[in-house]
Amino acid sequence: MKKRIQVLLILCFAYPLFAQNFLSQSFYENYHNYKEESILTKRVKHKEVLPLIYKLEGNEKFKVKTLGYSLQGRSINMISLGNGETDVLLWSQMHGDESTATMALFDIFNFFAASDNFDSFREKLLSNLTIHFIPMLNPDGAEVFKRRNALYIDLNRDAERLQFPESKILKSVRDSINPKFGFNLHDQSTRYTAGRAPKSATLSFLAPAYNYEKTINEVRANTMKVIVNLYDELSKFIPGHIGRYSDDFEPRAFGDNMVKWGTGSVLIESGGWKNDVEKQFIRKLNFIAILTALQSISEKYYELADINKYETIPENERLLFNTLFKNLIISYENNKYIIDVGVNLNEREKKDSSGYYFEGRIEEVGDLSIFYGYDELDCSGMEIKPGKVYPTEFNSIDEIHKLDFDNLLTEGFTFLKLNTDETTELEFNLPINVIVNNNEFESEFRLGSGANFIITENSEIRFTVVNGFIFDSRTRTNKIKNALIMK
Ligand SMILES: [Zn+2]
Repeated sequence: MKKRIQVLLILCFAYPLFAQNFLSQSFYENYHNYKEESILTKRVKHKEVLPLIYKLEGNEKFKVKTLGYSLQGRSINMISLGNGETDVLLWSQMHGDESTATMALFDIFNFFAASDNFDSFREKLLSNLTIHFIPMLNPDGAEVFKRRNALYIDLNRDAERLQFPESKILKSVRDSINPKFGFNLHDQSTRYTAGRAPKSATLSFLAPAYNYEKTINEVRANTMKVIVNLYDELSKFIPGHIGRYSDDFEPRAFGDNMVKWGTGSVLIESGGWKNDVEKQFIRKLNFIAILTALQSISEKYYELADINKYETIPENERLLFNTLFKNLIISYENNKYIIDVGVNLNEREKKDSSGYYFEGRIEEVGDLSIFYGYDELDCSGMEIKPGKVYPTEFNSIDEIHKLDFDNLLTEGFTFLKLNTDETTELEFNLPINVIVNNNEFESEFRLGSGANFIITENSEIRFTVVNGFIFDSRTRTNKIKNALIMK
């Protein structure tokens, strides 16, 4: 009897040695040591990453190879590490405006260049795996922060026809390495929720199908299991914020074809997180997700994952607005009605590519009770009305600069008129829209129009909404990041 208890005790203590020992928590806690500080915004360009790649050339841990050139002649590079039996290929930014994983890959290169408490982890990983990274597969798209390549081609619809250099490069690398796993790193809409819950889909995963029947063969099953590991580990940091991307088969897409070609393809989509416009927190999550997935493959943890759990990951739903105004009263022909108003802030590139500004639109109206907002405002008992145009026309920018904007906003003015078109200085810096030279504009409240309106309570102005941003008239809190110049 005594002996049996002893054996049991030994088994209990020995068990952790065989259990999965994911390091996701340590990756989370130590991330700041590896963050590549020269990249701090998502509009990262080829010329910014190139010196970082050249720097890796001087480090014997890394093999750097130029695979070829984009349509506009920008180099596409591969960074390889390790000498293990299992090959893994990761590529980012096939879509030029989806850069979150690119930022994370440069953090990961710093992680592998370092020598510290993770040394034994690195050594083991790099003796089990050979890892190949292609950061920024579409550098021409990245240059203008647009999805497509220089000829407006969606490279993720060119996997079959293989017409464009960027697609050809990815296919030929896959064929020459024949990796067991591939990681297809993208960004998705920030308006997705994880299922029907009021939580943004900050990360979504997919094990893509390779036929219309969505058959699960061994290659696809393995990717599903890696995703179950990722779901479990990342849920520790963002519980409820992980979704599953649609698995509809797309015969022209890379992820789907990779599975057909024999490479298990894990899609990681970076979505939205409140107040993380530059996606720096989601970049950190990518860092953790990628290292966790590599650990899962290296240690073969995924083989123990419950594949049935994959189906329980909530599917992406498009249920988020930037701001949801709830229970507003609207008057029409002397009658009153209750409506919700969903407003989205769309990012627009500045003409000179020096950055971006927001354009706030009224995206949806009516009963929006199944939707959510990153910000929600319960406006019960309050009334929505069109914004006001300031009665006096201004003759110079100087006159406008001298105005007390908070006073104007408190009075519900959302538009000013200017009789000159010298507006360069004005661009995007004002909290009130400026209509230049009597240009056509719409001050009416209408679906699809600019989000400029006022909200009154007991006939007093409570909020003034300019270009989708809110000015609180009671507290004089101004959250307006930019208005628009209409010329
Ligand atoms: Zn994409």
